[in-house]
Amino acid sequence: MAEAFEGGCLCGAVRYRASEIRGAGYCHCRMCQRASGAPVVAWCGAPLGAFAWTKGAPKSYRSSPKASRLFCAECGAQLGFLPNEGATEMELNLATLDHPERVAPRYHIYTTTQMPWLHLEDGLPRYPADRPK
Ligand SMILES: [Zn+2]
Ligand SMILES: [Zn+2]
Repeated sequence: MAEAFEGGCLCGAVRYRASEIRGAGYCHCRMCQRASGAPVVAWCGAPLGAFAWTKGAPKSYRSSPKASRLFCAECGAQLGFLPNEGATEMELNLATLDHPERVAPRYHIYTTTQMPWLHLEDGLPRYPADRPK
């Protein structure tokens, strides 16, 4: 069995484990920027059946009618994103993995709000809004 993906928040109060990660990408949307305080957020998806919180529990903030953002109530670290209905995957804030270098983002979404001073020449596919399903 492949090594699991483990991660957690800055203070260590909330920890998680995913036995599988299916995909990863960068999001440049204004909500991710506001929630994280960073110009871009890297995400990766873990199927819900392959994911568990292993220590503590994140607080949930309903950031839009469509989805909620999960974060540590103690240190404020953004940990995850979950659709309010019909969720099949836990979207994890990729850099909260213990070994984020293991999972490489493969695309950019919401590039219409990418910061004009952020220059990325990684050759990855770019989508102006969400990724076409
Ligand atoms: Zn924390
Ligand atoms: Zn976003």
